[in-house]
Amino acid sequence: MKSVAVFPSRRELALLERPLPRLASPHDVVLKIRDVGVCGTDKEICRFDYGTPPRGDEFLVLGHEAVAEVVEVGSSVRTVKSGDLVVPTVRRPCVHETCVPCRADAQDFCTTGEFVERGISGAHGFMTEFVLEHATNLRPIAPELADVAVLVEPLTIAEKALLQLHHLQQRLPWTCSIDANAKERWCHTVLVLGAGPVGLLGAMAFRAAGYRAFVYSREGQDSDKARIVRAIGAEYVAADDVPIERLRATLGNIDVVYEAVGASSLAFQAIHQLGQNGVFVFTGVPGRKAPIAVDTDRLMRDLVLKNQVMLGTVNAGKEAFDAAIRDLGQFMIRWPDAVRALITRHPVSTFKELLEHGGTGIKNVLTFGAS
Ligand SMILES: [Zn+2]
Ligand SMILES: [Zn+2]
Repeated sequence: MKSVAVFPSRRELALLERPLPRLASPHDVVLKIRDVGVCGTDKEICRFDYGTPPRGDEFLVLGHEAVAEVVEVGSSVRTVKSGDLVVPTVRRPCVHETCVPCRADAQDFCTTGEFVERGISGAHGFMTEFVLEHATNLRPIAPELADVAVLVEPLTIAEKALLQLHHLQQRLPWTCSIDANAKERWCHTVLVLGAGPVGLLGAMAFRAAGYRAFVYSREGQDSDKARIVRAIGAEYVAADDVPIERLRATLGNIDVVYEAVGASSLAFQAIHQLGQNGVFVFTGVPGRKAPIAVDTDRLMRDLVLKNQVMLGTVNAGKEAFDAAIRDLGQFMIRWPDAVRALITRHPVSTFKELLEHGGTGIKNVLTFGAS
């Protein structure tokens, strides 16, 4: 079977021919991959910034954003059956008995850093025709979500953030009382920084959770991204129209900033726009650039005097995957065209171009074909 893989020691990206996987335990499932999303992480692995092959292998099969069809199940598997559609989770727990989160099925909070991530670190990914996976790592997908379920994994970033936010804001009265006759119904405002797939999916998730949402990005008001933002009932703010330091004055109080650009300079400029009792959520992983100057006195004053929180969030647990699947179903009822507009499919033969240079779509997807 064909697999897209990197050889870090040779700094090479290649299409490999590998043997088909076979059931190895009664809990195993064989999956036929349909779609695999390409994201910044994959591109960084292809630039050999990181990415670790499994022990004993010279190569790492890429891909962690997948939709697949179950084709064979082990004798003990009851949760899925042949023909079902699934999305696999990405991170596997570390082996340390002392790692409380991993032992509690919350490996996204692993304390040792010795977790394994499929397609990223220590385990092969999903850019391959067939995959072997333990049944507990699969989340079932309704057939009507088949063509958009490749968005589930990137959507888990926002879902985990929302789950964390919900816990955090228990620290104050945070419930809404909305006038039943109000034309617009929201009680909290989120500013999403960036209109890439993480930003747009984040805006959708916050809209579905009842937030008034603003998306701030470089593109003009007539761009496809701005149109998608408006289609989901959010407001698009072009960077050329409103300078970052005017955001709060222009938009009103901002309860949450959801950073989805991965640029620390922009994030730390925007941090001063966060309002009273606000939470600033970082999701990006910036590359190492030259240090920037930050007004730490102002930052610390705001954090204390406005009860603010800075929250970083990585990866996602099963709860966030299930929330993403549920929300994606809602998005498809409310904004099916906007959701579909995020996805651009490419045949596997174009993997090199896509991984080394990127594609034209918002979420570029390598498709291994339906069954
Ligand atoms: Zn990704
Ligand atoms: Zn752990």
